[in-house]
Amino acid sequence: MSISENLIQIKNSIPQEVTLVAVSKTKPVSDILQAYQAGQRHFGENKIQEMTEKYEQMPQDIFWHMIGHVQTNKVKYMAPYVHLIHGVDSFKLLAEINKQAQKNNRVINCLLQVFIAQEETKFGLDANELNEILNSEALKSLKNINIVGLMGMASFTENVTQVQEEFSTLNQLYLKHKNSTTFNINFKHLSMGMSGDYQIAIACGSNMIRIGSTIFGTR
Ligand SMILES: *Cc1c(COP(=O)(O)O)cnc(C)c1O
Repeated sequence: MSISENLIQIKNSIPQEVTLVAVSKTKPVSDILQAYQAGQRHFGENKIQEMTEKYEQMPQDIFWHMIGHVQTNKVKYMAPYVHLIHGVDSFKLLAEINKQAQKNNRVINCLLQVFIAQEETKFGLDANELNEILNSEALKSLKNINIVGLMGMASFTENVTQVQEEFSTLNQLYLKHKNSTTFNINFKHLSMGMSGDYQIAIACGSNMIRIGSTIFGTR
């Protein structure tokens, strides 16, 4: 099947209010262009340099999502254009994003990444660290960031019950903080679900899925 057929099939199988982020990491701009021509506007990358190169070559109305682990010293390269940074997992990183956003005279949308998997390799905050950041006095000085929700990855396992439990845990945290809105905390996105588990994620409350291989083929 072609990229556009894959996209249509996914779009037809998810509710309209779920945002589909097409994960184009490692794929050439010709592939991204095919998806773009089929109407796709949200794209996800996990390396800042690769995303920036693609941003420069692609139409300007694309929304670029940084879904990978972000190193503080590289934030400046994406600060002029990035739409949403999914993997924010420290106050230090938030502060740097705020600084670079300020330099570019913008507000940058961020998701806090929460660790929900039973694997040691995945990045993210635990529930207490999440609480600490959201309730910290210091957060109030970051005028150029907007925390718009949470992101998480489930364990890579065939065990559906386990994946459901992990996604439900994240949904509960999301709902818990959704009502505590401030000028820079405005929860509206729960980013969870990839090619292998997005149906489960949506059933557990996700409204933003990050799909790579099901659209573009294996990497
Ligand atoms: C690569 C990646 C995805 C997409 O994975 P697929 O299994 O190819 O759909 C989603 N989220 C993150 C954080 C990724 O790094």
